[in-house]
Amino acid sequence: MTDDRPAGGTRVDLDTASAVIDLGALERNITRLREHLAPTPVMVVVKSDAYGHGMIQCARTARNAGAEWLGVATPIEAMRLREAGDTGPLLCWLYGPDTDLTAAIEADVDVTVHSAEHLAAVSAVAATLGHSARVQLGIDTGLSRNGAPEQDWPQLCLLAREAVDSGAITLTGIWSHLAVANDPEHPATLAQLEAFADALKVAADAGLPPVTRHLSNTDAALMLPAARYDLVRLGIACYGIHPGVGFAGTDLEAVMTVRARLAAVKPITAGDGVSYGHTWIADTDTVVGLVPIGYADGIPWQASNRAEVVVGGRRVPIRGRVCMDQFVVDLGPDATDTVGDDVIVFGTDRDGVTATDWAAACDTINYEIVTRIGPCLEHEYRDPPELEAVTTAADHGS
Ligand SMILES: *Cc1c(COP(=O)(O)O)cnc(C)c1O
Repeated sequence: MTDDRPAGGTRVDLDTASAVIDLGALERNITRLREHLAPTPVMVVVKSDAYGHGMIQCARTARNAGAEWLGVATPIEAMRLREAGDTGPLLCWLYGPDTDLTAAIEADVDVTVHSAEHLAAVSAVAATLGHSARVQLGIDTGLSRNGAPEQDWPQLCLLAREAVDSGAITLTGIWSHLAVANDPEHPATLAQLEAFADALKVAADAGLPPVTRHLSNTDAALMLPAARYDLVRLGIACYGIHPGVGFAGTDLEAVMTVRARLAAVKPITAGDGVSYGHTWIADTDTVVGLVPIGYADGIPWQASNRAEVVVGGRRVPIRGRVCMDQFVVDLGPDATDTVGDDVIVFGTDRDGVTATDWAAACDTINYEIVTRIGPCLEHEYRDPPELEAVTTAADHGS
């Protein structure tokens, strides 16, 4: 596989700031999760550029770590994986009414069908290609997002049965998605489990063959063993991020570290205001440092006066508003830090500040913190030890 990340797609040079992606940590996380969940097979979800970590590199690492399946949202993402050389089981589930599914069906991507219209479109492509389409059926059991509404499900199953019989499709799975997966006791979770079981009965009654059944994301896979069925779809945990409170799983290591180097260091005096709007005024003399990335690089504006970064091994607060391309931190009155010193914006538990800390400071979820970095900052990949020998600089693109 090769990287498809566009060269020159970021505005900051590598020395100034980057997202360091520890593929060894990714591999260890997936290995630990697979051991913890065995014998249930695992789909590693690499949508949205692997939650900002880099889809091609993460997909390759996931396969090496034994992931039986990969999952993405859109057929475009799926085709990027195929074009990069991935040939394994690969599911996509989100596309528009006029999306051309030809390439995905020809490349044996599993396409999720949520409606009779989807099924007709997929069957038509299959007929044109003379190539049976790999299809999974999606049922809405209570998320009210994608998936066939329960009242349409029996009819969809009958139509799918006809398409299987005619050879237009090969049915490979039936699946749904939970709304409150982080709460196994929640009435909505229990209702969805029941609705899924009912939907499987309807499918069997319609004469559909037994196929891979799946319902669980990270939270459900780890907290609700009854929902594991034949496959679990793991996203956030693979990237070493604990999905929510109450998570009692296996040890995970953060895969992404956002780092930068101080672009300026200077003393300021009590009474000086910092950054746009002077939303912070120094109450004592102190030393401030300038971090040369901002909201154009995926740093949330909401972090203004709220989040912290690590400089010289200690946590220091952001002062004033985050700007488009920079923000200011308070290094403290006795700071000896100098221009060029390293800043960990967020990273592993060991670093002392994580994406989860940033999410709490910014009133958002850790998923968003890492994902928004993806298209913005240059990625530096650290290979797992056993891969170092076989990957080349060319695999890493820019
Ligand atoms: C994103 C996604 C997942 C992965 O969810 P995590 O909480 O990151 O494990 C699983 N299934 C579907 C349908 C998704 O959209």
